[in-house]
Amino acid sequence: MAQQTQIARVLERFDRWLARWPTAPALAAATPAEVLTEWVGLGYNRRALRLREACAIVARDGWPRDSAGLRALPGVGPYTAAAVASFAFGERVAAVDTNVRRVAARLGADPDALLPATRHADFNQAAMELGALVCTARAPRCGECPAAAWCPSRGRVTAAPRAAGATRPRFEETDRWARGRVVAALAAGERLPAPIAPERLERVLAGLERDGLIERDGTRVGLPGAPR
Ligand code: SF4
Repeated sequence: MAQQTQIARVLERFDRWLARWPTAPALAAATPAEVLTEWVGLGYNRRALRLREACAIVARDGWPRDSAGLRALPGVGPYTAAAVASFAFGERVAAVDTNVRRVAARLGADPDALLPATRHADFNQAAMELGALVCTARAPRCGECPAAAWCPSRGRVTAAPRAAGATRPRFEETDRWARGRVVAALAAGERLPAPIAPERLERVLAGLERDGLIERDGTRVGLPGAPR
């Protein structure tokens, strides 16, 4: 949920989600349409479906107890698997997000090689914070860095200039926006969003159908598993 949405806004949704589906079997028993409707506005709708699929596996097989088992669940990548295994299970595994990868590269070390023999979870958390707050992508604060004494990049990082003249399309012009609008409209039982031009709408619907986020029956469109 926090991938696309600020954590302050996620918290209320997270609590509501857990109140509705407090366990993996409960979420596994929900229809895809119910799950997508509850997820509306959180972005990356496919995550909601992967989460439901993962819960079906957990409901059948029980919770994995290590990063390899977590990684095998739908929608769980190496970073998430390592972070959960490290923080929840105490496994000695490096949780490598973008920030940690950058810090390790500047230190000239492999993230796995940096992991200490003890307090791995604390180390993972510290490495993430170091990358997020001190060794930032564009302006590392080497003077305040606890790793400065042994960092070969200390004081040498020059941020690449931002690409001049690069313009990104407005969010409303992207198919990602249109996909979100379509799913939100279907979840609310509304007509498909009128502002989307027919050709674009067809492209977006085809993509959503391919990803299992909608079902089509002739001209009728609905969320998967929703009564029509
Ligand atoms: S000394 Fe500078 S470049 Fe090296 S890890 Fe610290 S902040 Fe990053």
